[in-house]
Amino acid sequence: MKAAVLNSIGHDLTMEEREIPVPGNNEVLIRQNFTGICYRDILTRDGFFPRVSLPIIPGHELSGIVESVGANVTHFKKGDRVASLIYLPCGHCRNCISGNENLCAFKKTLGEFLDGTYREYIAMDQRSLVKVPDGVPEELSTIAACVTGMATHALDTVAGISAEKKVLITGSGGGVGSHAIQIAKAYGAEVAAITSSEWKKEQLLKLGADHVIIASDNFSKDLKGIWPDGADIVMENTGSATFKESFRSLSFGGKMVVPGNLTPASPELPLGILILKGVTVAGSISSTRLDMEKALNMSKNGKIKPVIWDRILLKDVNSAMSDIKEKKNVGRVLIKFH
Ligand SMILES: [Zn+2]
Ligand SMILES: [Zn+2]
Repeated sequence: MKAAVLNSIGHDLTMEEREIPVPGNNEVLIRQNFTGICYRDILTRDGFFPRVSLPIIPGHELSGIVESVGANVTHFKKGDRVASLIYLPCGHCRNCISGNENLCAFKKTLGEFLDGTYREYIAMDQRSLVKVPDGVPEELSTIAACVTGMATHALDTVAGISAEKKVLITGSGGGVGSHAIQIAKAYGAEVAAITSSEWKKEQLLKLGADHVIIASDNFSKDLKGIWPDGADIVMENTGSATFKESFRSLSFGGKMVVPGNLTPASPELPLGILILKGVTVAGSISSTRLDMEKALNMSKNGKIKPVIWDRILLKDVNSAMSDIKEKKNVGRVLIKFH
């Protein structure tokens, strides 16, 4: 099979021939229909994850049909539909045992320490897998860990979203943001979406956003025009670029959850406001299998619809990455294997 491989930081991926893997005792061989192109893959290529072990096959958004299973695998069988965490947790540490495997210090991320998903067949340890319920579109199972599961982790597990909350989402035209709007609405919250691209406004309203604000140097003022008390929850998907205004948008006791940062810069944290308003800033990393199951169940009920900008062939991955970096897309770009 063909695989796209990152051989050196800052350079295009190259197409190489690789063997279809044979699953180990605890592994499941998965045939993918799709994998997602994630901003993290671009950051990896550009050198933001310095510990990446080269050469590596990038990609971590994994779902598909079970082709075969190793000797110790009993929970999955040939023909099952599965989706995977973006990493392999150790399975034994305190965080793994308590169901917080996203916080496992020993986890190995696909496309960083383990060869990833930019290839049709991949063998993955059963510890990372969940079954995909009937009725979930294949595209939503592919993004159940890194997009919908990740947004569910940030909004629900970390920020404690509920129906009476006002939720501000930055970077809302991107792959994560466009699904996060739908997830926040599925929980019954009121949603304001921030985007830097005026042309994305119409689509964000269609996805369910109650308000759309075009990002500016003082969008917190625009937000206060809509919600005078501010936002109960801010999901900060872009990171440093919008952090200052997001922070100003928080209500008393509000909570900012930060699952992403698109630039290496670190923002200033105004401690006076942090203290006086009693706000919280919390990081959010990836998703657990429980988050994935919640996201898959919402996907099954049609509360989340896949926002897919394009389905490209593996050989076109380099130009697709350039387009994503230039924010030409609304929603996810997928690699289609057949
Ligand atoms: Zn991802
Ligand atoms: Zn662990």
